[in-house]
Amino acid sequence: MHEQLIRKDKMEALGSLVAGIAHEIRTPLTSIKMFTELLPVKYESVSFRQQISRFVPQEVERINDMVNSLLEYARPRKPSPESFGLNQLVENVLILFTGHIEKHCILITHQIDDQITVFADKQQIQQVLINILLNAIEAMEEQEKKKIAISCSSNEHSAVMVIEDSGLGMNEEIVSKIFDPFFTTKPLGTGLGLAISYKLVRENNGRIWPESLPGIGTKLYIELPRSSCRGGKSV
Ligand code: ADP
Ligand code: MG
Repeated sequence: MHEQLIRKDKMEALGSLVAGIAHEIRTPLTSIKMFTELLPVKYESVSFRQQISRFVPQEVERINDMVNSLLEYARPRKPSPESFGLNQLVENVLILFTGHIEKHCILITHQIDDQITVFADKQQIQQVLINILLNAIEAMEEQEKKKIAISCSSNEHSAVMVIEDSGLGMNEEIVSKIFDPFFTTKPLGTGLGLAISYKLVRENNGRIWPESLPGIGTKLYIELPRSSCRGGKSV
C-alpha cells in the first residue's frame, strides 16, 4: 500500500514534469512555426525580415537553454569538491553581474570573512549563487529601493551564507513550492533555477532554505560543510 502510494506520487510528479517540458518547448516552437509560415507571403517586407531574424534565433535559444537546464536537472555532474573561500566566490560572481547591477541601480553589500572556506564543487555552488541572484534581481524589478545583502556565518562544521533581497517577497504557498521543478510565477520563467540549485546543494552535502515576507523581501540560506571537516571527518 505504502509502496503503491509512493509509486503514484512518482507517476504524478513525472506527469507534471513532462507536461511542463511539453509546454515550455511548445511555446517557442509555435512562434517559430508562425514566422516560417508567413515567410513566403511577407518575404519582401523589410520589417518582417528584421523581426524573423531576431525572434527565430531568440526562440531557438530559449529551447536550447531549456534543454540544457533539463539535462543539468536530470543528470547533474557528480560534484568534484575542493576547498575554496566563500568571499572569493561571491566577488567573482558579482563581477559577472556588474552590468545587471549598474543597469538596475542595485545596491549590493557583501561582508564575508576571508577565512571562511568550504568543501564543495566550486562551479556548482557558483551556479547556485547565480540562480539566486538572478531571482533576487527579478524580484526587485518593480521595487523603488533595490538592495541585496550577502553575508555569512560559520562554526567549525559548516558555513551558512545568506542572500537577502528587498524584492516583492513570497507568501507561504509560493514559498512551499519554489524548489519544485517548473514552478514559476513569471511569464517567461522556466521554474528550474531553484529546483537545480536545491539538487546541487544537496549533492554537495549542504542545505538550502528560504525565508520570505510578502512586500518586504526574501532571504535564501545556503549551508555548506567547512573545509576543515571533509566528509564529516576533521583533518
Ligand atoms: P524562475 O525564476 O524561472 O521562475 P526559479 O526556480 O528560479 O524559477 O524560481 C521559482 C519561483 O520562486 C519564482 O518564479 C518566484 O515566484 C519564486 N522566487 C524565487 N526567488 C525569489 C525571490 N528572491 N523573491 C521572490 N520570489 C522568488
Ligand atoms: Mg530563476
